[in-house]
Amino acid sequence: MLELRHLAKIYPNGVHALEDFSLSVGQGEVVAIIGGSGCGKSTLLRVIAGLEVPSRGEIRLGEQALVEPDARVNIVFQEPRLFPWLTVADNIGFGLRHLDRSVRDAQVEAALARIGLPGYGGRWVRELSGGQTQRVALARALVTHPSVLLLDEPFSALDAMTRAGLQDHLSDLWQENGTTMLLVTHDIEEAVVLADRIVVMRPWPGRILDVVDVPLPRRRDRNSSDFGELK
Ligand code: ADP
Ligand code: ADP
Repeated sequence: MLELRHLAKIYPNGVHALEDFSLSVGQGEVVAIIGGSGCGKSTLLRVIAGLEVPSRGEIRLGEQALVEPDARVNIVFQEPRLFPWLTVADNIGFGLRHLDRSVRDAQVEAALARIGLPGYGGRWVRELSGGQTQRVALARALVTHPSVLLLDEPFSALDAMTRAGLQDHLSDLWQENGTTMLLVTHDIEEAVVLADRIVVMRPWPGRILDVVDVPLPRRRDRNSSDFGELK
């Protein structure tokens, strides 16, 4: 269980990016966060990831308060941030450095296969397309089996075909791992397809305007034919 309690974030320039934001997210739940530009969505994810210190409020994961970046929480940005001086395999394996080389290599190879890039481990990041780079960023976040995965518009820079493929990958990965996810998106259809709940943020400052339970069972639970009405 991820608990966000009365979070506020006031930047040094005086901008109130978040104001009294509270939300409980159950284990394995996928929550989409939507809202206009500048309403505090990125700030919210960055605060949960420990990349920004909240001005007020508390974040709890399980029984513990999160006060600094925690290995159980991982974040994927819109612009994939990979290490350009490392190969694809070393990027994906970065969070597994504590493991024996052979164990790590096996997990990295399995992750590459799962994202549809088997044999790409020895390549450099600059040799990848945008979609491939984002898939590697997802794989890097997922090999450590985070309890919470934060996704900040992870697909919005991609073309529609690549995006659909990655959404499927994410759905599959969710089924394998049961990861709790917070997904910031501008794409309402993506929110409906992937999420259990949609949180709508107010324009400014970031508070919750509405929380909507997605009325349909998630995509993984139904046949594509059930989906005809939406497409
Ligand atoms: P969103 O992701 O919904 O577009 P952000 O969280 O990026 O919103 O931004 C919320 C508000 O905080 C905006 O007014 C933005 O200009 C401001 N802001 C974001 N990051 C910073 C920062 N590092 N310093 C000062 N103000 C910031
Ligand atoms: P872009 O970001 O340019 O749209 P993609 O990430 O969709 O590119 O894919 C680029 C290339 O990656 C494809 O042309 C193909 O060679 C390779 N590729 C895509 N999907 C798979 C897959 N499932 N298995 C192996 N290779 C793939």
